[in-house]
Parts: sequence; C-alpha cells; structure tokens
Amino acid sequence: MHELAIMESALDLALGQARQGGAGRVRVIRLRIGTLSGVVPEALQFAFEALAPGTLAEGAQLAIEQVPACFWCAACAREFTSADLIAQCPDCRELSGDLRTGRELELTSLEID
Ligand SMILES: [Zn+2]
Repeated sequence: MHELAIMESALDLALGQARQGGAGRVRVIRLRIGTLSGVVPEALQFAFEALAPGTLAEGAQLAIEQVPACFWCAACAREFTSADLIAQCPDCRELSGDLRTGRELELTSLEID
C-alpha cells in the first residue's frame, strides 16, 4: 500500500523531530496533502494507526489538511481550483496545465509534550 510507505517516512520524520525536542509524547501530527497527490487521507489515517503503537506517537492525533488543486490561467492572470489534473479556466475556457498547488505531501508541524 502506497500510503503505508508514505506514513512510515512521515512518522519517522515526526519521531526524529520529537526526540530532538526531548518529547515524552507526540500529541498531534499535522500533514498537508494536496488533492492531486494521489494520497487517500483515510488510508493514511489507517496506516498511522497501524504504525504508531509502541512509538512516541502512540495515541497521537493525525491532523490532515487537504490542499485543493489550484491552476494558473496566464490569459486572465488568475488562479482557479479544479478537481482534475487538466483544468479549464472558468472565465476564458482556456485549458491550463499550470498546476500551482495540489501535489503537496508534507509534514507541517508537531505538537509534543
Ligand atoms: Zn482564463
């Protein structure tokens, strides 16, 4: 499962930061996931619950922020959101493949005790 490998590396990173910060426990792990990253938040949550027990992050909350896909239309000089990989500008109907956000997959912050 794709998400299991992703969660494994995100959790590794989080635990590394927690140990550096002298944490006894991780309370919240925040992730940003673009809607076009190909990652299913539910699967990530499931992977987290499988991996966290026995680590500092056991019982921690996984907070997933979803970032919508945002495209740039050069003709109108505006951004617009779309659920698809190729998007049509709502104003001029030009197709845009200029994706600005939506592929994020990153650990944004931790709350530790
Ligand atoms: Zn346009």
